[in-house]
Amino acid sequence: MDKAKRIILLGATGSIGSNTLEIIQRFPEDFQLVGISAHKKCQALAQIAETFQVPSIALSDESAYQSAVEAKIFSKDSKLYGGDQALHQLIEETQADILVVAIVGTHALSPTLKAIEKGFDIALANKELLVLGGSFVTQAIQEKQVRLLPIDSEHNAIFQCLHGNNTKDLKSIILTASGGACRDTPIDQLQDITPHQAKQHPNWSMGAKITIDSATMANKGLEIIEARWLFDLEPHQIKVTLHPESIVHSFVQWIDGSVLAQLSPPSMTFAIQHCLFYPDKRANPKPSIDFDESFSLNFAPPDLKRYPCLELAYQALKQEPYGGAIYNAANEIAVQRFVAEEIRFTDIPKIIEHTLNNIQTPNTHTLASLLKIDQDTRDFAQQLDPKKL
Ligand code: NAD
Ligand code: MG
Repeated sequence: MDKAKRIILLGATGSIGSNTLEIIQRFPEDFQLVGISAHKKCQALAQIAETFQVPSIALSDESAYQSAVEAKIFSKDSKLYGGDQALHQLIEETQADILVVAIVGTHALSPTLKAIEKGFDIALANKELLVLGGSFVTQAIQEKQVRLLPIDSEHNAIFQCLHGNNTKDLKSIILTASGGACRDTPIDQLQDITPHQAKQHPNWSMGAKITIDSATMANKGLEIIEARWLFDLEPHQIKVTLHPESIVHSFVQWIDGSVLAQLSPPSMTFAIQHCLFYPDKRANPKPSIDFDESFSLNFAPPDLKRYPCLELAYQALKQEPYGGAIYNAANEIAVQRFVAEEIRFTDIPKIIEHTLNNIQTPNTHTLASLLKIDQDTRDFAQQLDPKKL
């Protein structure tokens, strides 16, 4: 690489954010962090800004921004953006080569579209934004001819397996799923799972929302929709297999019967590093798979009674162009209500299903109508009484 790649990292204080910082710190000659964001954690963000000497900083929560300004916790040499429009402004006013999208939820849609418009490559961890606005993002990517590099481990695996092959010969992709925190809980006891139990992932260390989504497999549902947009697939070409070891990150199956897989230990640094250096590769100090040891890998079809959110994702795909938006927003509200102990673990798929079946959608498909459906879904899912469903 001739000169350092300039990176903007949205969600610097989160799980993907800190893995990304670890890589940037390991390769100071290759990367320059020119912008960072967090929602509320201003002290942690100030620490990152100081360590990496970051010139542009965004705090998307208005009150966190106000307190940070009052307490003067950021150096006056850096530019500070705050509130609802902070991420958009940060992108608009900062020059970079790549945007790493590592925030949760759909707030990244407008800043990501802005970054594409400015010609930045996108390294995307956030799946919600493709599930919501996949058609707009992929269209903008094609128009601007920038790279969309998937960090989500399954999609990163597929991206690597497709490399150098002719996608017209693709039969299907097979996403692997660990099964999440409740994979061994008897089905009749799932209704009593607490938020604390749902947050204990057997293999991966991740943020709270995605860990609960792994337990319901709404995460795999979101990934099915994400894959549809990333790789332009028909629903029947996207399959899921239960793989408790989380070593194979996904498979690609060709029409001639051969199957390719990508393997690495369950750490997101492999996928993030792949995206940051793409198309080059660098050594990773994390232990890789050791073929001098014996080990076995297991695969099984998922039980749809245990994971109803999986089947609902295929229903959402049939309800394009708004099915993904409804699935995502209904799930987000249901997870919030589960964490607040208003509803049970097993009410999450009920809320998604009822919402998918009842939200009215318009015939037009614009960014404005998409955002309206997103809001309508949230309002609808918020007031549903699962006992009546
Ligand atoms: P996290 O909860 O650890 O971190 C979230 C980050 O987003 C934080 O920096 C936080 O400040 C910021 N944030 C929170 N609410 C926000 C808001 N309203 N507006 C703007 N920023 C906000 O989450 P995570 O586990 O790092 O996941 C980030 C994204 O990556 C998610 O979309 C997740 O699905 C995806 N992902 C994560 C993993 C993983 O291993 N953690 C793997 C694959 C995909
Ligand atoms: Mg994943």
